[in-house]
Amino acid sequence: MTTPLLELVDVHATADGNEILKGLSLRIFEGEVHAIMGPNGAGKSTLANVIMGHPGYQITAGEIYLRGQALSAWSPDERARQGIFLAFQYPESISGVSVIQFLRQAIAARKNFEELSVLEVRLDLMEWMDRLGMDPAFAERHLNDGFSGGERKRNEVLQMALLDPEVAVLDETDSGLDIDALRVVARGVRTVREARPHMGTIVVTHYVKLLEELVPDHVHVLVDGRIVQSGGVELATVIETSGYDAFRTVPA
Ligand code: ADP
Ligand code: MG
Repeated sequence: MTTPLLELVDVHATADGNEILKGLSLRIFEGEVHAIMGPNGAGKSTLANVIMGHPGYQITAGEIYLRGQALSAWSPDERARQGIFLAFQYPESISGVSVIQFLRQAIAARKNFEELSVLEVRLDLMEWMDRLGMDPAFAERHLNDGFSGGERKRNEVLQMALLDPEVAVLDETDSGLDIDALRVVARGVRTVREARPHMGTIVVTHYVKLLEELVPDHVHVLVDGRIVQSGGVELATVIETSGYDAFRTVPA
């Protein structure tokens, strides 16, 4: 049997001493898109943060593996170098840093290059901006400074494309995303996947609309720190019509 790209085995995780993930298992193979859905406070963002190694969360039992290698000893930087990408990593505006300057540093860190040719980055960047339908002037703007919701999304998808991750984790926060911004994410992820078919993707979302565009291979329902049901896109449709109540009663 092939080794999963990313595997979580019975992961228990705490923040501030509270157990949030209570035995979560998940296997993602190359090229797959997995959607994680669940009510507010279920632990979706915790899952994303734990995969990235956020220091505010402690894994108390279980393990996460990237291509069979245990992640727990790796810092977030090391995880990024090994190809784990978490969107919303840098949501703050950074004044004085342009999109291209930021990307050059991020790519250098990921690819372990001492120095990266400015020209090389610029060519790659221009090519991706073109594919993603972005205005070239965007590269010179200051990072997240006055970006609209759609521009922030495009910027994230652009980061994802240029960083060439093994596993991309997209945590779509629960508010503030209009339908256009969702389409930007869905189309962007589709475009990146076409170029990098091996990439595994985890999309955390409330939005069935996003899943209609993205068409995940698997949908998982996360309730109270556990995956209570897994299935196909039809699960998203059930959630859209009936909410999460039916899943809360499923015994763990
Ligand atoms: P979701 O993304 O599914 O809405 P979260 O993972 O953000 O849920 O949070 C799950 C639960 O864990 C919530 O009850 C939240 O208050 C709690 N939690 C999340 N992060 C922390 C933290 N750093 N410290 C304490 N409690 C936290
Ligand atoms: Mg969340």
